[in-house]
Amino acid sequence: MPTLVIQTAFLGDVVLTTPLLSALAARHGPVDVVTTPVAAPLLETHPAVRKVIPYDKRGTDRGWGGVRNLAERLKRDRYARAYLPHRSLRTAALAFLARIPARIGFRGGWSFLYTEARPKPRTGHETDRLLALADDASGVYPPHLRPTPEDEEAAARLIEGAFVALAPGSIWGSKRWPYYGELARQLADYVPVVVVGGPDDVGLGEEIRRAAEGGEGRRRVVNACGKLTLRQSAALIGRARALVTNDSAPLHLATAMGTPVVALFGPTVTEFGFGPVRPGDAALGIDGLQCRPCSSHGPPRCPLGHHRCMRELTVPAVLAAIEELGALRRRG
Ligand code: SF4
Repeated sequence: MPTLVIQTAFLGDVVLTTPLLSALAARHGPVDVVTTPVAAPLLETHPAVRKVIPYDKRGTDRGWGGVRNLAERLKRDRYARAYLPHRSLRTAALAFLARIPARIGFRGGWSFLYTEARPKPRTGHETDRLLALADDASGVYPPHLRPTPEDEEAAARLIEGAFVALAPGSIWGSKRWPYYGELARQLADYVPVVVVGGPDDVGLGEEIRRAAEGGEGRRRVVNACGKLTLRQSAALIGRARALVTNDSAPLHLATAMGTPVVALFGPTVTEFGFGPVRPGDAALGIDGLQCRPCSSHGPPRCPLGHHRCMRELTVPAVLAAIEELGALRRRG
């Protein structure tokens, strides 16, 4: 009988759940996953996944009507067990109403609706903490995504050859590093630069591209924001020599695609468990700021007004970290 995983948290959380999917598939066979419509295409091509069931909890499936309808559909698939890495009422209720006989999740919140509640480790990287839900995680299960050859072709059409990618966006304003334009300007003397992001980042990407145009020499900065699907963007990040990103989903896309990362942490810190995991990756942040970290996600804007955690992270420091990764080669 099949296994179900329900993970409807943020995009980055879904990427960090891929090791759990691999561990569960190794034991039970490929799993079905309920996830958000945004994250669904990423998991559709994952080798540990049999079927993806999109759940639009803020749109067409919103409210208790949506929960009940989806639970009825899940009931028909007669799942033997459900793993519930996201501690939310919706998640717990879905598995309960679908009458899945074994419902395994983390203690706390709505765990009285589970049949088995396991402790979630307080420390360590989120991938490892989520793996604590697996019955046997003795194998090696890194985050992993698998874009299709068509996704790779779409990414290759945008830019050929070596480049460094920048991911300047974040839904939390205080997590955005303000100097991507200047970084792109200086970086493009060495290597072509591609700005990656979704449709909401098109304007930001354009600002960065224009800022880079103002410098000396022959520069190449491509604004890829809004031009690719999410899976194509993962393919593009996978082709980059390195990705510079805030503490946001592209960090985890790069990890899953095996791309070296320079991650810039402002109001959050790596100790929260969402930093880079690959050896050699860099996580930069300003030490010694008493206000830091100021929230688990990062507030919309700096509550103190000065935003020192990001403004004091300088372009030379970021360039040095990129150089340390070996991603720079002066052109000509
Ligand atoms: S309060 Fe401190 S940590 Fe939070 S956004 Fe402002 S400068 Fe950054």
